[in-house]
Amino acid sequence: MSWGLAVDFANTVACQACRCSDVLSDPETFTRWNRAHPELPDVSATTALRGDLISLRRDVRAILERQAAKRPPTSASVGRLNRVLRTSSTHWRAEFVERRWVLTEVPEGLSPTQEWRWRVARATVDLLAGTLGGKLLKCRAPTCDHFVVRRMRDQLWCSPACGNRVRVARHYERVRRRAAA
Ligand SMILES: [Zn+2]
Ligand SMILES: [Zn+2]
Repeated sequence: MSWGLAVDFANTVACQACRCSDVLSDPETFTRWNRAHPELPDVSATTALRGDLISLRRDVRAILERQAAKRPPTSASVGRLNRVLRTSSTHWRAEFVERRWVLTEVPEGLSPTQEWRWRVARATVDLLAGTLGGKLLKCRAPTCDHFVVRRMRDQLWCSPACGNRVRVARHYERVRRRAAA
């Protein structure tokens, strides 16, 4: 179950609404984010790698954006995702973890940075091909750039904070209109 990684990675952009900076723009922030995702290899945050990841993120976000809008992806972005997936052949590993069987796909012969990209591409396909793909939502709060997998059918926001911000803004707008009337 790696799909969460796709949303997390897409959400590494700077977001004005949620007041977060771009994770890929700063080596220290990137390293912290990387370590918080143990399913990814621990790679050193060189400028070249971060540049590569920024273009991967552009593709992942474009695909998620279209999915959230119920539109098909562009063939160019699917092609680029496939180029990342093609870097490795894989084998399956069966494990018995915490009283249940888990089958994991393991990439072969990749450098840590290649594996990093492969895992993000794989997670993106996992998300879109699975049942959660239909629940992908782009937050409706103005200036929020975050994606989220909907937990409730009528969910509109990536977080309660975004929802509150919009409600507060609407409240003040109503007050202002009433005062002006
Ligand atoms: Zn946001
Ligand atoms: Zn939001």
